[in-house]
Amino acid sequence: MNTHISDRVKSLAVSATLAMSQKSNELRAAGVDVINMSVGEPDFPTPHHIKHAAKKAIDDNFTFYTPVPGFMSLREAICRKLRDENGLQFAPEQIVVGNGAKQALCNVILATVNRGDEVIIPMPAWVSYVEMVKLAEGVPVEIRANISRDFKITPEQLRAAITPRTVMVMLCSPSNPTGSVYSPAELRALVDVLKDYPQVMVLADEIYEHINFTDGFTSLGSFPEIAGRTIIVNGVSKAYAMTGWRIGYCAAPLPIAKAVSKLQGQYSSNASSIAQKAAEAAYNGPQDCVREMCEAFRRRRDLIVELARQIEGWTVNVPQGAFYLFPRVTGLLGRTTPRGSVIHTSGELAMYLLEEAHVATVDGAAFGMQGYLRLSYATSDDNIRTAMSRIRAAVAALK
Ligand code: PMP
Ligand code: GLU
Repeated sequence: MNTHISDRVKSLAVSATLAMSQKSNELRAAGVDVINMSVGEPDFPTPHHIKHAAKKAIDDNFTFYTPVPGFMSLREAICRKLRDENGLQFAPEQIVVGNGAKQALCNVILATVNRGDEVIIPMPAWVSYVEMVKLAEGVPVEIRANISRDFKITPEQLRAAITPRTVMVMLCSPSNPTGSVYSPAELRALVDVLKDYPQVMVLADEIYEHINFTDGFTSLGSFPEIAGRTIIVNGVSKAYAMTGWRIGYCAAPLPIAKAVSKLQGQYSSNASSIAQKAAEAAYNGPQDCVREMCEAFRRRRDLIVELARQIEGWTVNVPQGAFYLFPRVTGLLGRTTPRGSVIHTSGELAMYLLEEAHVATVDGAAFGMQGYLRLSYATSDDNIRTAMSRIRAAVAALK
């Protein structure tokens, strides 16, 4: 068959988080007792009052197209959230709601990045950033920070990476895949660099805002020097355990919000009307569910850090947010499995752990950092204990 696949898609990598999760689901369907620590999503059901709002939306016939950027009532609720929780002033016209933070990020990149434009991405970074920039024909410029610096870039690194072609810097805090959280002082130091480059936009992925074990959350949008060129992306997936509902948004300077809306109007229109109503209930309703889930993640963080530290050959930091552990596993590279094959890379180690320990993790290389693994601990205490003891046994069997 003569198939035509575009160069654009051919050059994209497959999402490793989704691929590993699918592999683990297939193994489970085949009867293998796999613990899936690959995909990152809260394991809690969506809170009851949010589900109720969605059922009511159907009964109330919120079943038609909505404005492309989302219901005005939802955008107003988002503006209130940004004002009350983050101290940011946005008008509803500056908000565009899309199918998850993923679409919101991709929308912003496609609406602002031209061929050859450079976008700075601190690594390790979530799998999709680099691919989205490539989709826009931009050039990802990676800055690397390893575990010895808690995976945080320095102001000096940022300054050194900026060139006349730089159009954007992306930052994710709390971070996927490392769980690192930039302190207000660390953000301030980065802003002190950015204020010297007024042509550079800032794309702040704040999707893990509420899964934060530090004293508070500082939005990058709250620094006056860069506020006028900062785009915030956030959504309900993580804070309200609503990954399947697919609601996220960008809050942007008006010309960018208009461009994003024009783009989205041509390729996906509005996000689901029913999910939008559910998201509105999430923002307007009681917030104790958010705090309770965060507490559960903190407990699990403590548990997994304690257990992971007992695994030979792993180096572990203490993540301050999100629900990921990103151990350095270079101590195990070069070892031989009981079947006689040598483990050369963290990818081969992830495969060995899947096959021998039946625990699905993601190779750090998918996030731009060979020699590390990512484990999502958004799962029960029992699963965490079992997974870590299986990994420990599988690692102990390496020669
Ligand atoms: N940004 C980061 C850092 C994420 O981890 C995720 C979830 N994979 C997203 C954005 C996208 O989230 P959503 O489910 O809202 O599309
Ligand atoms: N936040 C998740 C992860 O990183 C979702 C999967 C994805 O969209 O990549 O695993």
